[in-house]
Amino acid sequence: MTPTQTRTLRLGEFHSFEGGGRQFLYLVPAGAIFELDTPVATLISLLSEGPATPEELIGKLTERDFAFDDAMELVQEMFRARVIVASDAKPEPLESPPDDFPLQSLVMNLTNQCNLSCQYCYEFGDDKVATPEGKPKFMDLATAMASVNFLLDQSSGRKAVHITFFGGETLMNFPLLEQVVKYANQRAREQGRTIDFSLTTNATLLTPAIIEFLSENRIGVTVSMDGPPDLHDKLRVFANGKGSYNLIAPRVKALIQGHRTRPITARVTLTNGVTDVVRIFRHLKQDLGFHEVGFAPVTTSPDRLYAINERGMDGVLAEFQVLAEEYLEYALRGEMHGFSNVSDTIAELYQGVNKSHPCGAALGLMGVGPSGDIAPCHRFVDSDTHSLGNIATGLDRAKQADFLNRGHINSKYDCHTCWARPLCAGGCHHEAFVRYGDTGHPNLHYCDWIRDWTDTCLRIYGAISAQNPGFLEQFAERKALN
Ligand code: SF4
Ligand code: SF4
Repeated sequence: MTPTQTRTLRLGEFHSFEGGGRQFLYLVPAGAIFELDTPVATLISLLSEGPATPEELIGKLTERDFAFDDAMELVQEMFRARVIVASDAKPEPLESPPDDFPLQSLVMNLTNQCNLSCQYCYEFGDDKVATPEGKPKFMDLATAMASVNFLLDQSSGRKAVHITFFGGETLMNFPLLEQVVKYANQRAREQGRTIDFSLTTNATLLTPAIIEFLSENRIGVTVSMDGPPDLHDKLRVFANGKGSYNLIAPRVKALIQGHRTRPITARVTLTNGVTDVVRIFRHLKQDLGFHEVGFAPVTTSPDRLYAINERGMDGVLAEFQVLAEEYLEYALRGEMHGFSNVSDTIAELYQGVNKSHPCGAALGLMGVGPSGDIAPCHRFVDSDTHSLGNIATGLDRAKQADFLNRGHINSKYDCHTCWARPLCAGGCHHEAFVRYGDTGHPNLHYCDWIRDWTDTCLRIYGAISAQNPGFLEQFAERKALN
């Protein structure tokens, strides 16, 4: 359809924002960013008064000194870009990924045992979904090898795949990790493919030999750490209640110094009383030397003592915004800042993502537990309710389809008019289950927060693209986004 074939036109679905002194539109159905120049701004202001026929619009534009041909071309171009649409246009549903969508990443929970007792842990805390009773506590070599084969079999068409080692505490099963790296590299080589690795650890068991192995094998490391001792030790404790900071701090420093091949990331869980984002960031980045620091508010029922209430989340947003402005200053100087909550969103904006599902769970990403049970992601590992089959017997396609159908944005009616949906798509399936008892329920408790944060990231993106677009190119190259 062309604009002249429609009776009336109205504004399409977009979110306006300002960045670096310029105006932009975030075009929702396309997940794309569009800079607003004077002609487009004029067209939008005309249609803000209400729907108009193409003839009326072109007439009003020519009254504002547009040549007839320019006015016509502008209306046509904006119609193609979906900045303006037919008044009776219906939103187009997003297509589902194909049934045989190839796997890209496998999270292998090498053990469900942990030497810490962090009170907010989704694996062991009050909100746990795992049912590990009667199942193996440590993965064995046969299950691990079958898991690697599963990843390679289910990822056909992909040249490069990824394994993340996870726990429990991953390093409690380090001997198996070493064997898996050897076996997976050999299998990938036989197929002319590449495989890379990462792991998440609480850092308590790091030794110089382990650090050497991680560095030699280019294994990316994320350390779960919540900041300086007074904050970290609030909840990241041993079973006797003693904090773990003093044990891990020297090990973390040795890791950052000794691991020469990949950046080291800290992952901070924010809880009630542990929300000093800027102070935590400074400590982890400047005092300890992490390359990247990412923050995640605890996923839990709101009545837990360590849950952050609405006021606390407002404080978190304000602190995020301080670091986001700092991120922008760095980017304008061509430097990386290290606040991964901004870089993750910038990466998605750069790629123009328009998600059918909030994340890769049960799509490009799956988890596998010590028993070989397959899960949508690491957070559902060992949960009978959410199992998608077993490595020994194969993927249960019907269960996978059910999980994906319920999590699809088309099923989340509350999200259909939300401008943040191309990035959010309803939020984490695990959080949805903990909060609402349904992995497909949108996480409606944090919509305002998500929209405010997304708007902040859009402003940062707009300012960078206006004032130092070269940074985005370098950023994309570093993150291999192209
Ligand atoms: S969960 Fe909320 S913020 Fe996210 S897409 Fe749905 S309505 Fe928007
Ligand atoms: S379901 Fe939640 S925890 Fe699992 S991969 Fe998705 S966002 Fe992450």
